[in-house]
Amino acid sequence: MEINQCGYHVKCDFNGCNNIAKYAFSTKGLIKRDLCFCEECLKEMYELLAKMQTPRALKSPFKLNKKLRRKND
Ligand SMILES: [Zn+2]
Repeated sequence: MEINQCGYHVKCDFNGCNNIAKYAFSTKGLIKRDLCFCEECLKEMYELLAKMQTPRALKSPFKLNKKLRRKND
């Protein structure tokens, strides 16, 4: 499995997302075709994965937002 820059001008595969896909997730045949997604969805996926990896971060999203806001201040 690997993530490459998406070479085609296609829309992001995520439901409700109308961005143009920037990356393609290739499984070399494990799924029918590459999953194409935009940078925003990549970040979202990354955050979700990070939460799964570190159970302690599984607090309410509100707290997470507060943390992010503080960082921006
Ligand atoms: Zn997207």
